Amino acid sequence: MDAVPSQTATQSPETSLDFIREIIEADLAAGKHAQIVVRFPPEPNGYLHIGHGKAICLNFRLAEQYGGRCHLRFDDTNPAKEEVEFVESIQDDVRWLGFEWEPHLYFASDYFEKLYEYAIELIHKGLAYVDSLSQEDVREYRGTPTTPGRNSPYRDRSVTENLELFKQMRSGAFADGACVLRAKIDMASPNLLLRDPVLYRIKRAHHVRTADTWCIYPMYDYAHPISDALEGITHSICTLEYEDHRPLYDWVLDNISIDCHPRQIEFARLNLTYTVMSKRFLRQLVDAKLVTGWDDPRMPTLAGMRRRGYPPAAIRAFCQAIGVTKANSVCDFGQLEYYIRQELNQKATRRMVVLDPIKVVIENYPEDEVEWFIGDNNPENPADGTREIPFSRTLYIERDDFREVAPKKFFRLSVGSEVRLKHAYCITCREVVKDEAGEIIELRCVYDPHSRGQTLDGRVVKGTLHWVSAAHAVPIEARIYDHLLRQPVSTGDLHADFNPESLKVLHAALAEPAIAYAGVGDAFQFLRIGYFTPDPDSTPQKPVFNRSATLKDTWAKLEKRLNQ
Ligand code: ATP
Ligand code: MG
Repeated sequence: MDAVPSQTATQSPETSLDFIREIIEADLAAGKHAQIVVRFPPEPNGYLHIGHGKAICLNFRLAEQYGGRCHLRFDDTNPAKEEVEFVESIQDDVRWLGFEWEPHLYFASDYFEKLYEYAIELIHKGLAYVDSLSQEDVREYRGTPTTPGRNSPYRDRSVTENLELFKQMRSGAFADGACVLRAKIDMASPNLLLRDPVLYRIKRAHHVRTADTWCIYPMYDYAHPISDALEGITHSICTLEYEDHRPLYDWVLDNISIDCHPRQIEFARLNLTYTVMSKRFLRQLVDAKLVTGWDDPRMPTLAGMRRRGYPPAAIRAFCQAIGVTKANSVCDFGQLEYYIRQELNQKATRRMVVLDPIKVVIENYPEDEVEWFIGDNNPENPADGTREIPFSRTLYIERDDFREVAPKKFFRLSVGSEVRLKHAYCITCREVVKDEAGEIIELRCVYDPHSRGQTLDGRVVKGTLHWVSAAHAVPIEARIYDHLLRQPVSTGDLHADFNPESLKVLHAALAEPAIAYAGVGDAFQFLRIGYFTPDPDSTPQKPVFNRSATLKDTWAKLEKRLNQ
């Protein structure tokens, strides 16, 4: 079993209150809310990644822990990038992670009419105006972090004129980009987001849900606080990059007639080494066909991780262990793998599979005989039962488990040495057979008929190898994955970052026959090799297995060393 990582890495939010839980408990104690209401608000413009997983676990767990509820709200305010495929995959992924939102499924687009009415209210109050500056001019007038912005010449349009123009924007009187609706706040604010932010833009794009009803669409910073308030959200939890947006969030709600004002709280995003948490980057990988799709097992998407064989319980455990903080940092990918292994070790069915086979002939074993040995399905869980493993005269072992001449401390097979075959006999190699090119093609061995499951009379057999019977072996394809990126931190350049070694396909692998019962979602440990799961590409003729993780845990070891 893997060593338990140090306390610093596994702070339990259940035992020590994180800052978000402190706020919530204080609010509840002060009687501010009868119950808490939180939400997970994805934009349906891509598949969810494990960073979203952190936000999902956080919000749904808060609802569970404090007896409140968590809404799933699609933030579908940008029709150009949004698709039904993503709306569906996001729901699949949240459910797969183990959370349920029903009956609280919402779409920001359901609020388009209300959002429009609130915009009219802001115009009436003199707090919003239609600006006809070009996009470049809007940018130019905004100023820089060190120089204040300038007022647009259209800023002082009358309420009547603004109402008329905004109605015309809605009815399609203007071309895309001809004008925008802006909040009238402060062009000299040190916070650039408060320099009269855009609330609405004109965009003729077909919306997945509202079709062509609208040609104006609200901006995120305007739609989000109002959507939250309409749903009675108490705590609107988002990532740190929204800290600067908070004054705008509050400004919107302070200036419209709505009697709910959720509290926005920001926490640090999850970042992982050797991968990237950005839909934009992930989309580029998909578009460039460097991966097979959003659910490619190398992707940090929840769909990719599911296909890779990561158990949802392991992802939840990981998200809980890393906790929530206010400081951005990068998590070691190995820390995620630690939780994957912990979970897989408990549930994976053990099987013997030879990835790179070399033939073994047992000269003193009868030609036609087959013996069936019993092996545990999972020594961690005796209730999983056993399976039968056939043994015969011709077997395969791993090519790498043999050396013609054994180097020091090589306890596997070499000429003259003896090893145990797992669940079966001990064998000794007598001779190697080579082809014309000098390549070893066969090992001639003998077995000790008395060595079955016995401790041996004084003989020390150090190595135990996995093997399969040639006549019974099932050919499989094994897909061996490595990190998506070549280096721990992305350079932002897709082609420089992408690890060309991230997938190796082994076509000659052979499995023991019990593997034939494998179905998608099953977890296996191929003895001495790693954790694997069947891929949906499998056919009855050729099962395909994805490597979920190696057996070795480098992260826990590293942690241990660092903490010594
Ligand atoms: P991306 O940058 O990958 O496109 P996003 O923040 O634009 O992500 P959204 O669909 O808007 O994606 O995110 C939905 C929710 O998930 C938001 O509340 C967001 O803060 C949260 N979230 C996104 N990425 C992470 C992350 N890496 N860690 C934690 N939470 C995240
Ligand atoms: Mg976003």
